Amino acid sequence: MSYQNTEPPPLQQTHRIPPPDPDREPLKANVYERMSKAAAQLTPLFPYDHAGAIVPCGNVLVGGPESEYGHFFHWNAVNEVVVTYGSNESLLGSGQIMATQHLHGVNSFLRDEKNPEAFAVIVVTQHQSEEGDQSEALIARCKNCKAELVRHDYDATPFPLPGYDVKRHGEPGDPVRQFATTLGSTEFAALRNTQKGRTCQACGHVNTPFPEAGWGWARTVAQTDAVNSAYRALRQAATAQSEQESQS
Ligand SMILES: [Zn+2]
Repeated sequence: MSYQNTEPPPLQQTHRIPPPDPDREPLKANVYERMSKAAAQLTPLFPYDHAGAIVPCGNVLVGGPESEYGHFFHWNAVNEVVVTYGSNESLLGSGQIMATQHLHGVNSFLRDEKNPEAFAVIVVTQHQSEEGDQSEALIARCKNCKAELVRHDYDATPFPLPGYDVKRHGEPGDPVRQFATTLGSTEFAALRNTQKGRTCQACGHVNTPFPEAGWGWARTVAQTDAVNSAYRALRQAATAQSEQESQS
């Protein structure tokens, strides 16, 4: 038996992982804990959605007599990976991992969404663009003839790339940015549920309204606006207080 030279390489020659960005400290999140209280599907589990970020987003789909999720298509310029953290009576099995096509259908992934035993906890992870613009689209099709009813294209270029639209995602200095996909999805649902958005140009069928409530997008956009307004209100109150004190 012979031994090769087993001298370890000098330390300075080994690969080093750079220390974390002080503005983005390493965090950990528990998807079960986080999604037990979340307001919407596609809730980012971490507060990081900047250029190059890996953004895992939680979803919890629950069946029941009142459950309704509908169906739409999502087109994303960047890749998404779906991991199922547990399910029952779902098309996605527990532990299943799936890479989506850029254009993919989205629904509850429950076999029967009226079944109270059906559920799925899913994490959809997208990798934000490192450079250049990023775009997404949501598409609705007619239930009767499958023709396109509504296509909503929106810009999803992440902060701080040159194409990032500051005004669209909040106000400068806001502590929380609107998540581009949630914002675009809210706009899509609003367009889809107008009389024009419901009426098929190809066959004239008037489609039933898209059930937005199960997705919770509009609620999330409103909550994000509210927390940013709350932050600004507190800052203003503090400024007013300190001005008052300096005058007295
Ligand atoms: Zn039609």
